[in-house]
Amino acid sequence: MAESSLYRTYNRADLEFARGEGVWLETTDGRRFLDCAAGIAVNSLGHSHPHLVAALKAQADKLWHVSNLYAIEGQERFAQRLCEATFADKVFCTNSGAEALECAIKTARRYFYVRGEPERVTIVTIEGAFHGRTLATIAAGGQEKYLEGFGPKAPGFVQVPFGDHDALRAAIDETTAAILVEPIQGEGGIRPLPTECLRGLRALCDEAGILLIFDEVQTGVGRTGKLFAHEWAGIAPDIMAIAKGIGGGFPLGACLATEEAAAGMVAGTHGTTYGGNPLAMAVGNAVLDVILAEGFLEEVQAKGLKLKQALAGVVDAHPAIFEEVRGKGLMLGLKCRVPNGDLLARFREAGVLSVGAGDNVLRVMPPLTITEAELGEAVERIETAAKAMETGLERGAAE
Ligand code: PLP
Repeated sequence: MAESSLYRTYNRADLEFARGEGVWLETTDGRRFLDCAAGIAVNSLGHSHPHLVAALKAQADKLWHVSNLYAIEGQERFAQRLCEATFADKVFCTNSGAEALECAIKTARRYFYVRGEPERVTIVTIEGAFHGRTLATIAAGGQEKYLEGFGPKAPGFVQVPFGDHDALRAAIDETTAAILVEPIQGEGGIRPLPTECLRGLRALCDEAGILLIFDEVQTGVGRTGKLFAHEWAGIAPDIMAIAKGIGGGFPLGACLATEEAAAGMVAGTHGTTYGGNPLAMAVGNAVLDVILAEGFLEEVQAKGLKLKQALAGVVDAHPAIFEEVRGKGLMLGLKCRVPNGDLLARFREAGVLSVGAGDNVLRVMPPLTITEAELGEAVERIETAAKAMETGLERGAAE
């Protein structure tokens, strides 16, 4: 086969999908997979959700793009609904998570700039974080593997070890603008920040007079059973980046902020060609229709509990394969005792898709619309994969 003309940036699996419906994906050669990766927490409502398809088709017939030079009714509505449902007063629409984070970082720095404290630019983040792949967000994430070879790390980011409160406190000085964290680290391996930590962060930011930014790109939009994961801790950030699930598969992100935090972001300070265009907004609003509907999030919570319990049973039954199950709602992670890449291949053989993460974890993040029967099917397939892996280990030991 001729070599691909694409950049070699992705280690792609040897799978090509032709269509999807609900939690199911079908390959070009007709094999069906239960999708517990959901495009890395993107397909919040599964594949080809009829309400999303209808919204996109209807908008496609009317108007695709006009630019942010003009009023966009769908964008106003989308922002208003997000503000009504959250801590936020203001919204900036983007096309991706990294762009939402860029906006969050700029918003925090401008906040201090317009208050006459331009030296407050530093963003404190936590080891194991992932905030995107732009130059600023790889600096924020602080992971050497993503920074290597791309020149000087963008200044203004410092990182402290996960769970080290003293280091966090010590990292705050007169140059600090904000603390930026994921309530549950996604790429880092489904590592939740305990509720007390999230509350402690809020208190620390208030005490130091700095801003709290949450990256809810992966945890947001119902994934953990609340609209946003920080709600479990009963606190709110000043700024929040979202993406992934809010577009349900359409490239869409947003930066949300309080009136006060967004005060510096006046006309001309930020912009995007595509962010929040009519097509994206039709889908974003349609996603909100479903997620904000009465009882939807409660169902996610109930399904999340069931799935976690069932996976805990699988972990107990296969101690050579798994160490633990962790996470919240339908954002779960299986910490593996075998290399997660090897187990991922077994998952695929068993007809279930997952996605790896740091700390040797496999993520289990099905569409939020998964049914109870499909949850059972997912657990069965994961069990099959675990057994196959065990057989492989026993064979290896016998040889
Ligand atoms: N922040 C978090 C927590 C993420 O999980 C991701 C993507 O995985 C990003 C930011 C970056 O989002 P995007 O890939 O849409 O730029």
